[in-house]
Amino acid sequence: MISVEEALARILAQVHPLEPEQRPLLDALGQVLAEDVIAGFDIPPLANSAMDGYAVQAASTRGASPDEPRELDVTGEVAAGYVFSARVEAGTAVRIMTGAPLPAGADAVVPFEETDESGEHAPQAEGLRGGRVRIFKAALPENNVRAAGEDVRAGQVVLLRGCVLRAAQLGVLASLGHARVSVIRRPVVAVLSTGDELLAPEQPRAPGRIYDSNATSIAALVRQYGGIPRLLGVARDNVDDLTQKLRAGFDSDLIVTTAGVSRGDFDVVKLVLAQEGEVDFWTVNMRPGKPLAFGAFRAGARRIPHIGLPGNPVSSAVAFEIIAAEPIPMADERRFYARCVVAVEQGRYVAHLAGSQSSGALSALARANALAVIPEQGRGVAAGESVEVLMLNWDAEDPPFAQLDSAARGLDQQQSSL
Ligand code: AMP
Ligand code: MG
Repeated sequence: MISVEEALARILAQVHPLEPEQRPLLDALGQVLAEDVIAGFDIPPLANSAMDGYAVQAASTRGASPDEPRELDVTGEVAAGYVFSARVEAGTAVRIMTGAPLPAGADAVVPFEETDESGEHAPQAEGLRGGRVRIFKAALPENNVRAAGEDVRAGQVVLLRGCVLRAAQLGVLASLGHARVSVIRRPVVAVLSTGDELLAPEQPRAPGRIYDSNATSIAALVRQYGGIPRLLGVARDNVDDLTQKLRAGFDSDLIVTTAGVSRGDFDVVKLVLAQEGEVDFWTVNMRPGKPLAFGAFRAGARRIPHIGLPGNPVSSAVAFEIIAAEPIPMADERRFYARCVVAVEQGRYVAHLAGSQSSGALSALARANALAVIPEQGRGVAAGESVEVLMLNWDAEDPPFAQLDSAARGLDQQQSSL
């Protein structure tokens, strides 16, 4: 038996990053950045105003208050996108909009709210030149000014190779003037279900048969994690069908098969896997998912890595520390991945069991948004203890309250199933 970490390390040692490709920014959403991105210039490129107001020399406003305003000559106006040509001298002000470069000579911006020009009463254009503004509050140098390079400095590494490009990262690239980006191409992952009992979802029901759900779940995970799934269908438990369906996946980057790798399984899957390449059968110290096959198929000069999953695979994303809402007992000494619903309750993340923990219960997995990791050495986790969880889907800003009722109900079933 090998640990989860060792299985992962052995798999990662046998695979390597695919080649990079250039993509338009928006088409690269969710892809992995292939090279470090270095800023070619400062952002913001020039010191600029953080508020709508008046650019001034802070010294010109010294001592200003509502009772004793300072009155300044307004010499012009500058909007975002324009550079003001003249200097701001002592005793003068330039009307300035958010994002407009700070005129030479100015060192602070007084927002409209601290002047006699309130937001509601914007002065007419003709009132500006030669007009005056009353300042009600003293400004300090740098008030309401965003310094050049405050966000990003020229030469700085802003994104590291290997990061996943989400909305914010793509925004950074756009702010640096990039229209395209070098990313690792998405892997094509072929998915093949095996088993005489399996029916494709559109087929009529038949005695002793069950619908193939793994192919859809795994293909969806492949897509969710950035791959391109290719469904190879269902292979029957015979050498010819299995060989033929497997080979249909030999132009992909990875082949995932499900079922047929347990000790009790009919030998045909193992036989074909061994004929088409090298394969190792592992027992991994985890539940569910103990039996696992890993190897590679040979297709001419190519080696296509292969992962053989048992009947009920589960995948995961990010690890968190969460409080257990209910006790999670251990059934045996294997590391236990308990299907959980994590929600925010009174400001804390709390894990509820998501129903039946039987490894065949797909509905509990569908309800779950996390797997609680119950260590192999130990007696489980008591309610109120902290527990490490692997988040399965975590765009969920809003907690999945709708699922909590069923989670609570699932607890009873859970106790009988363990
Ligand atoms: P095996 O790994 O072949 O021993 O299968 C373990 C359990 O998973 C058995 O009950 C199978 O019927 C079930 N199973 C295998 N493949 C699938 C599949 N593609 N969809 C749903 N259940 C499956
Ligand atoms: Mg089977």
